[in-house]
Amino acid sequence: DIEIAIKVVIVGNGGVGKSSMIQRYCKGIFTKDYKKTIGVDFLERQIEIDGEDVRIMLWDTAGQEEFDAITKAYYRGAQACVLTFSTTDRASFDAIKDWKRKVENECNEIPTVIVQNKIDLIEQSVVTADEVETLARNLNCRLIRTSVKEDVNVASVFRYLATKCHQL
Ligand code: GDP
Ligand code: MG
Repeated sequence: DIEIAIKVVIVGNGGVGKSSMIQRYCKGIFTKDYKKTIGVDFLERQIEIDGEDVRIMLWDTAGQEEFDAITKAYYRGAQACVLTFSTTDRASFDAIKDWKRKVENECNEIPTVIVQNKIDLIEQSVVTADEVETLARNLNCRLIRTSVKEDVNVASVFRYLATKCHQL
């Protein structure tokens, strides 16, 4: 049995919900505790794609993103990427293009998804549906809207990426 493992990097400005997404997906929990890091380099979860076991390793940035100090080691060997912004944080949306460029500089072209998180706060949205869809189209990425808090669409993000990687 060949084991398939996929390293997924999750980038985006601080506060958009990256660590929460990893905890939600790998541990099934959600906490409001903002500065808490998961204290390890990555968490993993095993799923089945086309009848095969795939180990998905999710790498967290542990806060370095705020200082623009993510090292090359973080990106090394990444096979898929999640570009994350928050529904209630305009700067995080505007930064998506830059995050994509950074990942591309280190990893070339890998399957990538844009995640609009905190969709439970849609009433407080600072982005329009239109501009989000336009950005996704321009960057040629699948867009998935999630609420890590309410566990909406989180699993679809990683299932989509794992399927893409598996097809390569
Ligand atoms: P990171 O800096 O990108 O790792 O973001 P965190 O995972 O630390 O999350 C930042 C804050 O947003 C925390 O208070 C989380 O509880 C909160 N948060 C994360 N996801 C959601 C969500 O889907 N909805 C809401 N309302 N809050 C969220
Ligand atoms: Mg974090």
